[in-house]
Amino acid sequence: MLPYVAHDPRFSRLVIGHANLERLFSGCRWAEGPAYFAAGRYLIWSDIPNNRMMRFDETDASVSVFRSPSFNSNGNTVDREGRLVSCEHFMRRVTRTEHDGSITVLADQFDGHRLNSPNDVVVKSDGSIWFSDPTYGIDSDYEGQQSKSEIGASNVYRIDGVTGKVSLLVSDRVKPNGLAFSPDEKLLYVADTGATHVDGLPATIWTYGVDGEAVGAASLFATCPEGLYDGFRCDSLGNVWTSAGRSVFCYAPDGTHLGTIPIGEIVANVCFGGPRRNRLYICGQTSLYSIYLNTRAAV
Ligand code: MG
Repeated sequence: MLPYVAHDPRFSRLVIGHANLERLFSGCRWAEGPAYFAAGRYLIWSDIPNNRMMRFDETDASVSVFRSPSFNSNGNTVDREGRLVSCEHFMRRVTRTEHDGSITVLADQFDGHRLNSPNDVVVKSDGSIWFSDPTYGIDSDYEGQQSKSEIGASNVYRIDGVTGKVSLLVSDRVKPNGLAFSPDEKLLYVADTGATHVDGLPATIWTYGVDGEAVGAASLFATCPEGLYDGFRCDSLGNVWTSAGRSVFCYAPDGTHLGTIPIGEIVANVCFGGPRRNRLYICGQTSLYSIYLNTRAAV
């Protein structure tokens, strides 16, 4: 049985007919935040309620605990110098793990108020760090620490890579969540999972035109037929590979839903890995999966 469903002929050129969906690890409570480290050939991801970050070694398929406590880390990424950048629910901050292993706090407040609970993060080619800040880590003690929002809104921010200044970029989403740039960095994709807090609100992905350090007006990119979009990544062709309910969806840059990879449990996020960057890692609720594709990471 094929591990995917094609909705558009273009999808067949992006997948490999005999590639399998592989379950690599199980035993997480909420797997999120995959980030691939090319130099070491390993993947880091977060197990948020278990307060740990995990590490999958691609060379021998072993899994170990990378960091515990992780302060309920959520989204992770790798910056242009190969350093780990993480969102921490419990500490309500974005951190960077330096080459020597020490941890630098990149942002923990905006305008004198503590952040809510940074959720997902992406680094632009100019070294700036863009992150979403919904309330999931302060809504309960399960994924962080229950607390009031000091900011009173859920936004997307930019940390300047040189000065460290934190700027407000997106303030018109209910719960901004997953983030990614198009390959040319002219578009920022932002998922909105506000349906968790507003009855009847559609689950959506929006695009924002990017102009240097600013973004333009929002434009609706996709609406999820069932469940939520959470995290996603673009491939080198600009297709968007996103979590979507209990599946991974692939969208063309024009918003056409090209194909579906059913996973069988709620999917939180994906990222490309492997020496050729053609292996899609998938964080399902309890498990880490992967599948080889006939496309590769945007960067
Ligand atoms: Mg997320």
